[in-house]
Amino acid sequence: MPAETLKAGPLADQIKQDVKLKIEDMVKTHDVPPCLAAVRIGDDPASAVYVGNKIKACEEVGIRSEHHALPAATTTDELLDLIASLNSRDDVDGILTQLPLPAGIEERAIIEAIDPAKDVDGFHPVNVGNLALGRPAFVPCTPAGIIELLVNSDVEIRGARACVVGRSQIVGRPMAQLLLQRDATVTICHSRTRDLASVTREADLLIVAIGRTGMIGGEHIKPGAIVIDVGMNKVTDANQVRELFGREAEKRLDVLSKRGYTLVGDVHPAEAAEVAGRLTPVPGGVGLLTVAMLMKNTLQAATLRRTKA
Ligand code: NDP
Repeated sequence: MPAETLKAGPLADQIKQDVKLKIEDMVKTHDVPPCLAAVRIGDDPASAVYVGNKIKACEEVGIRSEHHALPAATTTDELLDLIASLNSRDDVDGILTQLPLPAGIEERAIIEAIDPAKDVDGFHPVNVGNLALGRPAFVPCTPAGIIELLVNSDVEIRGARACVVGRSQIVGRPMAQLLLQRDATVTICHSRTRDLASVTREADLLIVAIGRTGMIGGEHIKPGAIVIDVGMNKVTDANQVRELFGREAEKRLDVLSKRGYTLVGDVHPAEAAEVAGRLTPVPGGVGLLTVAMLMKNTLQAATLRRTKA
């Protein structure tokens, strides 16, 4: 039996609808909606699309947004000045800087300059530390969205053997923390892991965030496992599309000929469909939840700031 598809669209819509209703209440009480400031530097087309999607979602739920698009030549100091001014503005509730930043900018300094109370991406060391300590924190949107999906899909996390492949600050590490908080037995793999397949095959719950097209194949997956594919990779080669999608390749080849690329995760879709029990699609999976959780985090920041005022 092919794996069941764990679609994220309906849940992402539900999260945004819930945020929208709460914002309507907030506006009744406080008169002002939350405000998210999105900062983007340079002209990386993928970053422009991501920020565009976030701003569109803000419009859907009633969050006011500001888009600060700065030239690639922006210096670290100029960006720090902008962050300082956004920190000091009372009408700004959330600040995000779209990563990756151009090579000349000190990413750490920028992340650390954001007021932790406005850090809706959850990347500031204060929020990272609070998450590690199990205290209230802004949690990075992608892993937070994955937890919502697992809970909403009645996946038993407690006691499950979970394996997270990838140890980045924005996905792998916080993902492992969140699974641990929910009593999973967690293993983290990375590029230095020996015999990756022998480790991942132990997992009831396999979460993959590595940025390598279709690298996790049938031999990496325990039969019946739940597989969450975080990867988003552009594939432009028709032969690769045929190899990845097998009998299902036609639709993808259509997308490829219309757009010049198709999005593929880190999990080999045709092989995983044969072995996994449930599997998130790419696109239409984790990415939708990431944006929905950003809306939720922005509402949370606005609520906390208004109740403190
Ligand atoms: P990073 O490049 O920051 O981290 C990749 C991680 O994967 C690293 O820990 C690296 O190990 C590990 N890795 C790389 N190659 C291998 C390998 N061959 N075997 C085992 N581990 C490996 O990536 P991100 O975490 O930022 O993103 C991962 C993917 O998720 C990307 O495709 C990205 O586009 C996507 N993404 C999707 C989002 C969404 O909303 N859907 C949001 C964020 C990311 P090491 O530490 O040893 O180098």
